[in-house]
Amino acid sequence: MRKVRSIDTGPEVRVRRALHSAGFRFRLHRRDLPGSPDLVFPRYKIAVFVHGCFWHWHGCKRSRMPATNQEYWESKIARNVERDHQTRIQLDALEWDVQIIWECELQQGVDTIMKQLNERRWQEASRVA
Ligand SMILES: [Zn+2]
Repeated sequence: MRKVRSIDTGPEVRVRRALHSAGFRFRLHRRDLPGSPDLVFPRYKIAVFVHGCFWHWHGCKRSRMPATNQEYWESKIARNVERDHQTRIQLDALEWDVQIIWECELQQGVDTIMKQLNERRWQEASRVA
């Protein structure tokens, strides 16, 4: 969530560092795209969101309702989930590839994206050759 997330700490930064040190270049928070994705690879039209498990309701053990104010949290999270859903539909319509990295599976998410980026690079290189 924007309100509790500071810009330069946490999972998103770890994802950025991992991809950056592997030699990938990207843009951050492109506001001209639906949902202003956390990372954007314009060349390959890949939009990446790093999602907190609670705020975006991953369904893992990190997404557990607090004991108090449940109604409040439920409606708040339901709005986030709905917004995520709409964002995905809008990006799909613009033919962007949407990748979600969950907070509890950062490394796995980074690996998936690296694999995808390497494949795109390879495809590009073989087209040129
Ligand atoms: Zn999770």
